[in-house]
Amino acid sequence: MALTHCEHRGFDSDTVMRRLGIVGLAGEDSVVLGNALQQQVIRPGIDLIIGNFVETLLQLEQFRTIVDGDTNLDRLRQTLTQYLLTLGVNHRSREYFEERLRVGVAHNRLGVPQSLYHSAMRTLQSLLIQHIPDDIRQDTERFAALLHFILKITSLDLSLAAEAYCHYEVLGLEDTLRSERGETERLRRLAITDWLTDLHNHSYTRTLLDDALTEAQKEGPPLCVIMADLDQFKHVNDTHGHLVGDHVLRIVAARMISAARAGDEIGRYGGEEFLFVLQDTAIETAAEVAERVRAHISADAIHYRSASIRISLSLGIAQARPTDTVDMLIERADAALYAAKLAGRNCVFLEAA
Ligand code: GH3
Ligand code: MG
Ligand code: MG
Repeated sequence: MALTHCEHRGFDSDTVMRRLGIVGLAGEDSVVLGNALQQQVIRPGIDLIIGNFVETLLQLEQFRTIVDGDTNLDRLRQTLTQYLLTLGVNHRSREYFEERLRVGVAHNRLGVPQSLYHSAMRTLQSLLIQHIPDDIRQDTERFAALLHFILKITSLDLSLAAEAYCHYEVLGLEDTLRSERGETERLRRLAITDWLTDLHNHSYTRTLLDDALTEAQKEGPPLCVIMADLDQFKHVNDTHGHLVGDHVLRIVAARMISAARAGDEIGRYGGEEFLFVLQDTAIETAAEVAERVRAHISADAIHYRSASIRISLSLGIAQARPTDTVDMLIERADAALYAAKLAGRNCVFLEAA
């Protein structure tokens, strides 16, 4: 038998014995009393006990709502028979704990509130006590021992069921937490990502640059930005339509990622303008990256249905200075880009010295 519920609740042989000790069921005498409960109380009176039990509970509206129908009542009677015929039998084993935890889990799954489960157990407790036969009642010592055993064994069941309820609640909460975390991450990504190209969006690119600039000005490694702008892109839209233009932007973005280095951050800064944040990069290296990007994007035409579109871009580079703000740095890269446009486009320009 797989002891899944025991494993989940951390019940090994030691913890089982410890729990039995707490309830007062660890001793050999409890085995004898378990047998007495079965032979002298449950087996002779099982039909009556179950009849009375169901009758008492049917007075509760909460119970009626859950059972709702004869078929369910028959099933409940069967389950209860099985439950009673195993109550207190071999109760010092992990298998017994497993079965009792399973009962709690099953009730929880059926939507039985814990309060209803408790009152059902109390009803059962008093019915079992009522069915202790007269010959035992007349022997005060035997009666007291069996009475206590009934109270203890039902308490054990109650405590295990309560744990199972709790465990399920925790699992439910963990599930909720997991999906909340997933949703938060999804929203976070959505908030920083450009919807069209999947590159960083404008505001996140500025945040990254702001952080990188602070770092560079504090620690000293060089920082460069590249501002890139597609050449004659209006013409692409005018000739092929806006949707084709969008497709071209997506392909260009993918080509940028494959031509840049792994740690380079790329954002879509405007409609067809892109900003690269190159940390720990001097301007000579930034020029190599920019040239690689330029060459890669203009090397092959972009195909869309029957159209074959040649695209190029111009790029301007600036390196951060100790007194730069984000805007000052971007402005110099923009000026270099403008110079590249003036020089005929499809080229890389460095900021003026
Ligand atoms: P230049 O070489 O001087 O940069 O010429 P250009 O045509 O690229 O420059 P201009 O600023 O005149 O036009 C940019 C065009 O980019 C205008 C606009 O239609 C297009 N554009 C901007 N955002 C998007 C977009 O999200 N999708 C599409 N399809 N086109 C866009
Ligand atoms: Mg342009
Ligand atoms: Mg532009």
